[in-house]
Amino acid sequence: MDRERKAFPTGGGDWPELRARMREMASGDADWQKGRVPLFVFRNDEDSYTVGREAYFDFFTENALGRNRAFHSIAAMEADVLDYGLDLFAAPEQAGGAFTSGGSESIFMAIKAARDRFRARRSDLAAAPLNIVMPITGHPAFDKAAQTMDLEIRRAPLVCDMRVDVAAAGRLIDERTIALVGSAPCFPHGVIDPIGELSDLAGEHDVWLHVDACVGGWLAPFFKRIGRATPDFDFRFANVCSISADLHKFGFCPKPASTVFYRDRADLERATFTADAWPNGIFATPTLLGTRPGGAVAGAWAVLNHLGVSGYEAAARRMAAMTDAYLRDLAAIPEIELWGEPDLTLINFGSHAVDIYAVARTLEERGWVTGLTRAPKGLHLMLSALHEPAREAYVADLKAGIVAVREHKTEETEMVARY
Ligand SMILES: *Cc1c(COP(=O)(O)O)cnc(C)c1O
Repeated sequence: MDRERKAFPTGGGDWPELRARMREMASGDADWQKGRVPLFVFRNDEDSYTVGREAYFDFFTENALGRNRAFHSIAAMEADVLDYGLDLFAAPEQAGGAFTSGGSESIFMAIKAARDRFRARRSDLAAAPLNIVMPITGHPAFDKAAQTMDLEIRRAPLVCDMRVDVAAAGRLIDERTIALVGSAPCFPHGVIDPIGELSDLAGEHDVWLHVDACVGGWLAPFFKRIGRATPDFDFRFANVCSISADLHKFGFCPKPASTVFYRDRADLERATFTADAWPNGIFATPTLLGTRPGGAVAGAWAVLNHLGVSGYEAAARRMAAMTDAYLRDLAAIPEIELWGEPDLTLINFGSHAVDIYAVARTLEERGWVTGLTRAPKGLHLMLSALHEPAREAYVADLKAGIVAVREHKTEETEMVARY
């Protein structure tokens, strides 16, 4: 998009007028509030949304970087949130964690800790090219971490249920492997990798196992508690060394908020950046960020305490029922095939009968933002409470799109899978 560069504003813009202009800019946004965006936004109920928002703005100005020097409230809330996660993920007594800005940062920190532990143990290989072994479904945040830290990524294929092929992953591990990764669940197909088997593999090779529970970590344990067959993925498995889990996805907390946990507090210290060469003395953070929004910590603390076990169980019940309803509707469409049995609310489906990308194009024309997968070619839904009222309209438009594509009533346009 060509856009003329604007001059620095002259100032004096009054708020109601600025707000009106901003709302005008938003008028062309996708209608996420009506459930037409199957990613980016996660919602539970109106109450937990309001609690998160109010808590966020009550601590809007506080800086979590200063939690130990000035904002003891933020330090206390952050410690509580990390305790809640350690409890949820069955962490041992000596475990520790950090509050970060998102999954990408949580993953970066865990991989840094794994690399630094490897270097500490294998000084003979410290300068060698090192690698990470992960499923092809691993999130691009690992690619970012690997590019930044000069690591190679080796991608293991999947078996037919879309979970990683553990034996194939094993064949990719060598003496320069700093970490093995599994997802709970993986973003593309919504299924949880066999973390127990990966833990055994990690034990055989004495390699760090990271579980990427970014998308579903804070909700998945409640799916199990309400009686779903959602598998375990956490520190219960002996060789899980670290877990990333985003509060701002299915924890329903305000952005930016994620967590990273380490089985051994020594690894949290390894991940921590400490610098003291500059004139102001020691600067140590267990995160990439320096300044962090106090509001994100407060918002997470408030939402977690507002929902608690009963609230997350209720959310799990609602979202499980909604996912089942979507699956029932999809199963009733003969052209549609499910590419994986979802462990949470992420659904990936395609078709052998019609070009699913052509169907996606028709959905886009009707105002739906579509998530796509490339292999296999498919549509991708990540359902939260916003999507329940949208289900009938979505399914109707999906069916209409299939009919249009079958009858060749659609334009030939290229769709490209992109996040
Ligand atoms: C979203 C996601 C990430 C990255 O998290 P951000 O908060 O977007 O940085 C990592 N892994 C998985 C599986 C995810 O779904």
